[in-house]
Amino acid sequence: MPAKRTLTAGPACYLGGVLLSILATALFVAGTIGLAWLALLFGAGMVVCGFWLQSGQKGLEEDLQRQIDRGDLLELELAQQRRTIDVLADGLDVAVFICDERATILYANRRAMEMFRFDSPVGRSLVAVTLSYDLEQIVLTAWRERRTVDQELPFTYPAEQTSLVRAWPNVDENRVYLTLYEITSLRRLERIRQDFVANVSHELRTPLTVIRAMAETLLDEIEQPTEKQSRYLGRTIEEVDRLSLISNDLLILSTAESNPVRKHACDLADIVKSVAQGFEKLAAEKKLDLRLELPKKLEISANAAQMNQVAINLIENAMHYTLEGEVHVALSSDAKGAVLRVSDTGIGIASEHRERIFERFYRVDKGRGRMTGGTGLGLSIVRHIVEAHGGTVSVESELGRGSSFTARLPRE
Ligand code: ADP
Repeated sequence: MPAKRTLTAGPACYLGGVLLSILATALFVAGTIGLAWLALLFGAGMVVCGFWLQSGQKGLEEDLQRQIDRGDLLELELAQQRRTIDVLADGLDVAVFICDERATILYANRRAMEMFRFDSPVGRSLVAVTLSYDLEQIVLTAWRERRTVDQELPFTYPAEQTSLVRAWPNVDENRVYLTLYEITSLRRLERIRQDFVANVSHELRTPLTVIRAMAETLLDEIEQPTEKQSRYLGRTIEEVDRLSLISNDLLILSTAESNPVRKHACDLADIVKSVAQGFEKLAAEKKLDLRLELPKKLEISANAAQMNQVAINLIENAMHYTLEGEVHVALSSDAKGAVLRVSDTGIGIASEHRERIFERFYRVDKGRGRMTGGTGLGLSIVRHIVEAHGGTVSVESELGRGSSFTARLPRE
C-alpha cells in the first residue's frame, strides 16, 4: 500500500510545483511580489519533493521487479522438482499412495493406478478404489498409533494378488504414506518349490522302503555272507535309513510351510512329558541324567503334533550332542506364554555357528552330523514351527560346556 501511494505522489508533486510556478508568474505580473515569492518557494519545494519521491518510486519499482523475478524462479524450480518426483514415482515398480488421516487419497503414482485399474483416484477413499478394507485399516492404524505398519496382504480386486504393504504417518502434514510391492509371482514360485519338495519326499518313500526290505532279505537269506557282502548290505540299509530320515524331515518342513497352523487348546506339559519319556531308554544307554522340570498342566493354543515335533527335535539334539552329564528339560510360563528350555552339558556350539544352525542342512561338523544320524533339518523345522505359532527360538551355548535352546510360545 505505501508503495502505491508513493507511485502516485511523485507526479502529483511535480504537477503541484508547475501549477505554483504559473501562479507565481501571474502574481509577479499582478505586482504582488511577496505572494509571488511564496508561491515560487512552495512550487520549487514541491518539484524537489516530486524528484525525491520519483527516485524512491524507481527504487521501489526495481525492488518489486526483483521480488517478482525471484518468485517466478522459485515457482519454476518448485514445478521442476515436482515434475522430477512425479517422473520418479511413476517409474517405480511399487504402488505409492499418499492419504490423509481419514484414508482419502491425495496422490497416487502410475503403478498404483494400474494396480487397481483406476484413472483418477485422487479425492476418493482408499477403500472405494482398492476394495480392501484391510488396506484402509493399515492406513488408519499407522495414523492412530503413529507408527510404521508392515503387512503382507492378499487382494481379490481387480485380480488375485499378494503385496507387501507398508504405511507410515507424517504427523506434520496430516498424511499417511502407503506403498505396495507386489509379490504374487514370488509366492507362487515358493508354493511350487514347497509342493515339489513335498512330492519328491513322498515319492521317495516307496522305493526307499523296497530297497531296505530287499537288502534285509538278502542279508537274512544268504547263509554265510562274506565280509564284503555283509558290509555292503549293512551300508545300504544305513544309507537308506538316512535318506528316509531326510525325506521325512523334508516332508514335515514342507507340510508346515505350505499349510496355515491349525491351533487348538493343548496341554504342552503333557506333550513334553511323553516326548521326554520316550528318550529315557537312550539316556540310560548313554548314562546321561535326563532331568525334567515340568508343571502339572500348561495349556496353550497350538498345534499338538507340531509341538510334539519341536520337543522331539530339541531333546533328540541334546541327547545326540551330549557325551556325559545331563539333559535338562524345563517348561514354565510367563506373562506372554510358555517357555520350553532344553539344556545340556554337551559339546556346545561355537559363536560363529550359533545363528546358522537354524538354516536348512547346516551342520557345525558335517561328518559328525552324519555319524549321529542327523539330517541338518531338525532346528529349521523347530524354528519354522515356533515362528509360525508367533513365537521365537534362541540358543545360548559355550563350546565344550553345553547348550541351552529356548522356545517361547504365545498362549493364544
Ligand atoms: P542335525 O540333524 O544335524 O542335528 P539340526 O538342524 O537339528 O540338524 O542341528 C543343526 C546343527 O546344530 C547340528 O548339526 C549340530 O552341529 C548343531 N546342534 C544342534 N543342537 C545341538 C546341541 N544341543 N549341542 C550342540 N550342537 C548342536
